[in-house]
Amino acid sequence: MRLPPTAPLSALGLTPRVCNLLHTLGVHNGFDLLLHLPLRYEDERHPLSVATLVAGQSACLLVQVVRHEIRQGPRRTLTVQVRDETGLLELRFLHFYPGQLPLFTPGNRLRLFGEARQGYQGLEMIHPRCQPFKENSPLPATLTPVYPTCAGLSQTVLRRALARALTQLDLSDTLAPSWRASLKLPDLATTLKILHGPTDASQLVPALWQRLKFDELLAQQLSMHFHRQHRTETPAHAYPARGELSRRLERSLPFPLTAAQHRVVEEIRRDLAQERPMHRLLQGDVGCGKTIVAALAAVQCIEGGGQVALMAPTELLAQQHHAKLHDLLTSQGICVESLTGQLKSQAQHHVQKRIANGEIALVIGTHALIQEQVSFKSLGLVIIDEQHRFGVAQRLSLHQKGGEPHQLMMSATPIPRSLSMSYYADLDVSVIDELPPGRQGITTKLVSAARRSEVIERIRSACRQGHQAYWVCPLIEESELLDLQNAQSTFQTLTADAPDLRCELLHGRLAGSEKRDIMNRFLKGELQLLVATSVIEVGMDVPNATLMVIEHTERMGLAQLHQMRGRVGRGTRPGVCLLLYQPPLSELARQRLKVIYEHTDGFEIARQDLLLRGPGDYLGSRQSGLALLRFADPMQDDDLLDLARRCAAAWIAESPEQARHHASCWLDTRQPYLTA
Ligand code: ADP
Ligand code: MG
Repeated sequence: MRLPPTAPLSALGLTPRVCNLLHTLGVHNGFDLLLHLPLRYEDERHPLSVATLVAGQSACLLVQVVRHEIRQGPRRTLTVQVRDETGLLELRFLHFYPGQLPLFTPGNRLRLFGEARQGYQGLEMIHPRCQPFKENSPLPATLTPVYPTCAGLSQTVLRRALARALTQLDLSDTLAPSWRASLKLPDLATTLKILHGPTDASQLVPALWQRLKFDELLAQQLSMHFHRQHRTETPAHAYPARGELSRRLERSLPFPLTAAQHRVVEEIRRDLAQERPMHRLLQGDVGCGKTIVAALAAVQCIEGGGQVALMAPTELLAQQHHAKLHDLLTSQGICVESLTGQLKSQAQHHVQKRIANGEIALVIGTHALIQEQVSFKSLGLVIIDEQHRFGVAQRLSLHQKGGEPHQLMMSATPIPRSLSMSYYADLDVSVIDELPPGRQGITTKLVSAARRSEVIERIRSACRQGHQAYWVCPLIEESELLDLQNAQSTFQTLTADAPDLRCELLHGRLAGSEKRDIMNRFLKGELQLLVATSVIEVGMDVPNATLMVIEHTERMGLAQLHQMRGRVGRGTRPGVCLLLYQPPLSELARQRLKVIYEHTDGFEIARQDLLLRGPGDYLGSRQSGLALLRFADPMQDDDLLDLARRCAAAWIAESPEQARHHASCWLDTRQPYLTA
């Protein structure tokens, strides 16, 4: 009786120490271990002779020890002279233990594997792998796998662990034979056995990796299906679109909604009226007007007696949302509060109490606050602004928290089709694909940092005409302190060079009240120039700001740059964005700046960015390890992804239990909701 494929590592008889080391490699159960594939293979099947060996070649040899000696010196080295019928070879060991010496007793026969290199006196091998060799002991029948590993975990131990996994675990196929045949894929057991020990390199055909990629994509698609299914089966409170408050709110706006805004408002309206939780992603380029759409959604929920939580990725953005929505909604008799870390704990406590008793209808804060400490009387809708900053993990973890509110996620970073089909497949998507009328657009210029004084002159002249400007010193160092110093020194030189400008420095270390104060003064036009770290990246909305200077653009992500630059050109006057770079530029940096220079469409920028960086980077490190794929690449394997999507839908209809089993083999340690 074989063990189930997802059996714990300890069931394979591995010691706790080995299990722990495997955990650090991301291997948590038997199936993970099976998927821990070799980096490469070594060929120990056919030993070479010393005479045919050339420098740079990795080879297996059968030799006899002639003598060994330990050379003292600045560095103790063990050298071993060995020979076969055709010649002599020197082995050198810089690390060795006394216990190893008996292996090198003159006359002993050894099987060794290593890379030959040119030494002072002919060929030598540094740290070859050596085993005693008896005349009748067989040579390996397969190529020897070399696995990715970590300190303390030897190849020998890994190979033994895998040999156990391959013989003790149940490798019966999770894919039905009919599927396998129609896709022309090898079966699972064969695939794994070959990959862990091919009898010959010619066995390593692409179909093996195709099989794993397909299985992985399929598992991902299935888990998204299950996730969605779970969600649609869970009841939520329905908030019918009565619309009176919404209509009043719409009428109070200084502008009519765009057609695109109307369309997505309708989509959301319908979702909220349903008794199953909405999970909708609202995409739209910076400045397209997502906030007002969110406000209308909030009002529908509030009108039906629900509470709404709006989460922003930064305190600053939360404060700005609060300022705007407070003005907009209190006039409609709606109670809006913000909950930020800056509130004194007593005040915070008070706000929390009023959330718990239902007095506050809309609470605005950062993700952490709302997720961890607050209990609502009747939370009906959660709105997540700038969703791409949060990541899939938090999206799911929120979902698992108790009751089921509707969710609206907003993002200005468009998700390319291949990614939305994989990572975001469980969401409905609404798109705002037009900007409000009258926008003048943004002109982007690349400027060498050497021309800084001209740039300062430009700021002066813009401010003289009554405009406002940003000077952004983005995060460039690992250390927040260094970044702050960088921003501070920029601020000092700017105020020295342009003493006539009313200028302030805004950064993440300021107290909340100071930040708020600076923002308000900038908003009211009292300040002309705002020097800021990347705290202003998202959401800042000051229509009178027309000029933005961004430093060190060569080190920034494209989506981030596009977001930043969207802070200007929001009013009726055209925006200008000057991207300062430090020459010389690397080829990649040049290509990336070219993208941001040539395109103003966030969608195209995201696509190019993805091509240049790959999806792991694109989705952000916060998400890695959760839903990131190990074998497949949704960009490159889009054919397989399409197949997997179709297969997943059919399979769930056909035999949901098998489908669930497949998904849980691949993902169970990563996606807890599968087993929950
Ligand atoms: P984003 O989608 O980037 O979050 P915002 O919601 O901050 O954009 O809106 C950007 C600016 O456009 C705000 O000043 C907002 O008041 C304004 N705006 C939104 N919708 C319209 C509209 N239909 N017509 C004119 N201006 C609008
Ligand atoms: Mg916004």
